[in-house]
Amino acid sequence: MFDIDAIRNDFPILRQKIYNKPLIYFDNAATTQKPQCVIDKLVEVYTTYNANIHRGVHYLSNKATDETEKARKVVQLFLHAPYSHEIIFTRGATEAINLVAQSFGEKFIHRGDEIIVSEMEHHSNLVPWQLVAERQGARIVKWPFNQNGELEISVLKPLITEKTRLIAVNHVSNSLGTINPVKEIIDLAHQHEVAVLVDGAQAVQHIKVDVQQLGCDFYVFSGHKIYGPTGIGVVYGKEKWLNGMPPYQGGGEMIENVSFEKTTFNQLPFKFEAGTPNYADTIAMAEAIKYVSAIGLENIAAYEKELLNYAEEKLRSLPGIEFYGTAHEKTSVISFNLHGAHPFDVGTLLDKMGIAVRTGTHCTEPVMQHFGIPGTVRASFAFYNTKKEVDGLYLGLQKVVQMLA
Ligand code: PLP
Repeated sequence: MFDIDAIRNDFPILRQKIYNKPLIYFDNAATTQKPQCVIDKLVEVYTTYNANIHRGVHYLSNKATDETEKARKVVQLFLHAPYSHEIIFTRGATEAINLVAQSFGEKFIHRGDEIIVSEMEHHSNLVPWQLVAERQGARIVKWPFNQNGELEISVLKPLITEKTRLIAVNHVSNSLGTINPVKEIIDLAHQHEVAVLVDGAQAVQHIKVDVQQLGCDFYVFSGHKIYGPTGIGVVYGKEKWLNGMPPYQGGGEMIENVSFEKTTFNQLPFKFEAGTPNYADTIAMAEAIKYVSAIGLENIAAYEKELLNYAEEKLRSLPGIEFYGTAHEKTSVISFNLHGAHPFDVGTLLDKMGIAVRTGTHCTEPVMQHFGIPGTVRASFAFYNTKKEVDGLYLGLQKVVQMLA
């Protein structure tokens, strides 16, 4: 499918040894590692054209501005958004959701209204809606998932009423790996004139996304989960909503004219980008998107699916293992527990073998409450991982089982 050795060579961190053991990095759902081209791009920005953007007359400022706006175009094409001014840069998916929740909420959600939120959301796609509901006097309606960790349209249907204003749902669950039927959700919501925010933080690095084909009102993601830098994220929003929404934060850049009596606001997307933007990471995120696109998301998805199937098959033979999230459509995430072992202990023992997994609630406490467990061990694979590394996890878990017996 692609040259895995060449791919791994692009990621300098993977050459490391941890406790004198080769690093096996299976914490990709938390954050992904960065290819050399992304690291080089950051160095290039800071060593050759660093300057504050949009307000300069000098060469460096114009160059930094051009590169930032080119990056916006890269994101527009990546999501297949109709216009580049529908792409707003934020600090990450969390800030992106807070932007939509606060701004959309202030204008379009009122007393007695309802916001449907799925039971499998990351806290960052639940808590901002709780805050808005509290402020506006609205109500959160839970859309529960089934025992496989799947969201069913038949369960959603009766939850939509004339009071529903928005549905908040992830494209892919970070703790279960479920790929949700977002197109069906959006089609149903739009029949009732309900807006949909799709949290794509765990999707864009695995699945080709086309916001026009999906028809979503808002789509958000984080740069650091798609092999780009931390501190940068994206809101795609339909122009018709963004134009009607009030600014999220006030400050420089987002204004047109300011006096003590009155301020008028800048046009899209700048209305939502107050202050000096994170242009360096924006430019480096675009580099990451180009890198991933060159490999091809279809190739990445096929390779990761093979890794997932291989890992599930192998791990299934471990005594006392229980999987959480067995959806038909999944990305490369395995959430599990070993009978009688606390996930934290499993993760700590694996760490000493050079294997990085995540343990705990994965910022999805309602998911853990659903299953009645304190947390899980989560191994999440990227396209630079290998079957040999999966074998390493399997052997590591065998040792853990013996040690904790
Ligand atoms: N949504 C999902 C599904 C996530 O997995 C995460 C992070 O793990 C977020 C949102 C929040 O992303 P960030 O912490 O980059 O803002």
